[in-house]
Amino acid sequence: MSASEMGFAVSDELLGTFVPILVYWLYSGIYALLGSFEDYRLHSKKDEDEKNLVSKRTVIKGVILQQTIQAVVAILLFTVTGNDGDSAGPKHSLIVLARQFVTAMLVLDTWQYFMHRYMHHNKFLYKHIHSQHHRLVVPYAFGALYNHPLEGLLLDTIGGALSFLLSGMSPRVSIFFFSFATIKTVDDHCGLWLPGNLFHVFFGNNTAYHDVHHQLYGTKYNFSQPFFVMWDRILGTHMPYTLEKRADGGFEARPAKEVKEE
Ligand SMILES: [Zn+2]
Ligand SMILES: [Zn+2]
Repeated sequence: MSASEMGFAVSDELLGTFVPILVYWLYSGIYALLGSFEDYRLHSKKDEDEKNLVSKRTVIKGVILQQTIQAVVAILLFTVTGNDGDSAGPKHSLIVLARQFVTAMLVLDTWQYFMHRYMHHNKFLYKHIHSQHHRLVVPYAFGALYNHPLEGLLLDTIGGALSFLLSGMSPRVSIFFFSFATIKTVDDHCGLWLPGNLFHVFFGNNTAYHDVHHQLYGTKYNFSQPFFVMWDRILGTHMPYTLEKRADGGFEARPAKEVKEE
């Protein structure tokens, strides 16, 4: 813990827990304000209202419940594993920071790919846990973390703990990493294909890619989240997409390969 002599300073562990929650609502709040950009939506507003199987009110309550449980568990984890601060330690070099970030991204991706794919494979887990996330056929930003609380714990909290521990990053660096991962996840669900979105430029795994997974035909593809598409490519679950103009404005992500029937 790095509480200062001032007494009211907040530890990096606490910030690493709460800043990403704040970032989630801020970033998705910006998207909520932009939501009416009909010309850039991947689905019409009408589809958002009609195809989704859950109300916005329920989604907000579900996300807050999940964030509350995760924050409590994260604080417990930090209390158990916590060691005394490193914030007075040597300054991190950029190379070290980059290596920690990339390691954490790869660990999180690997954990989430296999857990996510297994939640689709195992009918019991799908029915009782992961199907909650798939009630959003037309994703929107603040629905990004609408998950069963157990899924939040399994994929995000444990995955986050693993990426934190295996990358060797400090609690202070983790504030930035978890905030970045949160922004990326919100962006993947934003439902908008806005020009100049850097996530769309730099990541093959992006809003359109994950939109494919949320469609009824797409649940056998594009399990990778939140950063890279490598596991989908390696294990043959990669579904490329083309972006077509919709007649009523905006775009639609269409599968660029034949969809396998089961
Ligand atoms: Zn899924
Ligand atoms: Zn999703």
